[in-house]
Amino acid sequence: MKAIRVHAPGGPEALRYEGVERPAAASGQVLVKIEAAGVNFIDVYQRTGHYKVPVPFTLGQEAAGTVVAVGPGVAEPRVGDRVAYTSILGAYAEYAVVPADRLVALPDGVSAKQGAAAMLQGLTAHYLATSTYPLKPGDACLVHAAAGGVGLLLCQIAKLRGARVLGTVSTREKAALARAAGADEVILYTEQDFESDVKRLTNGAGLQVIYDSVGKTTFEKGLSCLALRGMMVLYGQSSGPVGLFDPQVLSQKGSLFLTRPTLAHYIATRADLLARAGEVLGWIKIGKLTQRIERELPLAQAAEAHRLLEGRKTSGKVLLIP
Ligand code: NDP
Repeated sequence: MKAIRVHAPGGPEALRYEGVERPAAASGQVLVKIEAAGVNFIDVYQRTGHYKVPVPFTLGQEAAGTVVAVGPGVAEPRVGDRVAYTSILGAYAEYAVVPADRLVALPDGVSAKQGAAAMLQGLTAHYLATSTYPLKPGDACLVHAAAGGVGLLLCQIAKLRGARVLGTVSTREKAALARAAGADEVILYTEQDFESDVKRLTNGAGLQVIYDSVGKTTFEKGLSCLALRGMMVLYGQSSGPVGLFDPQVLSQKGSLFLTRPTLAHYIATRADLLARAGEVLGWIKIGKLTQRIERELPLAQAAEAHRLLEGRKTSGKVLLIP
């Protein structure tokens, strides 16, 4: 089968489209024929070696497709079932083996492309807004990179929970998309000082929570935008890692909370995985959550997908189709 492999960390050119042996499902595993794989920022960190993965490896953390074989001891799912998954390495491929207990069934009416686009960014937006800081009516939140893959979904879920949503984006086109996803106010953080805008827009009261996936260029300033006892949720670093940090700052800025959450810990149990995926896929099925699948590229063009994502050229989901 064909797969995108990394033999040594590097730029997009480190992604090699090559033939590898099709894997077989061992005990407790399922072989999935992949119909769509999602492209995520974590793939960039793993490709560059920023997040260490032993080489060589097949990239990709999220996909959807059809079960074509099951290993010993697997009762569910069955051959022919439509499934989706996230947080298992190896999705940039025609086939992948996945532990049976990490798969979720795709509901009727939700396509493989929608499923692949929902699992990593959708479940992330879900845990951020419902568990890390469970938003409630009356809360004001700031979503950085509000027109990004996670951002567009997070804006929508935050609105579903009744919060006031401020978003940051780099261009006017992205601003329009963030507004369409429900952002009440959008700040062009490449042109305006988002700290003074947040203060103005909240009449000096500040925000209950900031969802920050940008990191280096936004983190410090964000701490000055929070209300007393507000929460900084640092969940990514698309502009680079945040440097060393003195916890005393949290006290000085208003007894703030800081957390650095990761999806894997919010879907660690099967019950958590099923509950979150069930809600997100259910919302997609009934149109309560809208996905923006911006681009679909052939698997062989994974390097181009990475260039677009790293170059801030995307707004929404990029899929690779084997
Ligand atoms: P996005 O679609 O949000 O793409 C990244 C966006 O970040 C860009 O479009 C851009 O938006 C913004 N950005 C700001 N500065 C830069 C920069 N210097 N270089 C590139 N982009 C920049 O990606 P994802 O939705 O896939 O992921 C967003 C972040 O969330 C990533 O850091 C990712 O690792 C993290 N993440 C964390 C998870 C977790 O559980 N902790 C799970 C999922 C994702 P703009 O042009 O508007 O500034």
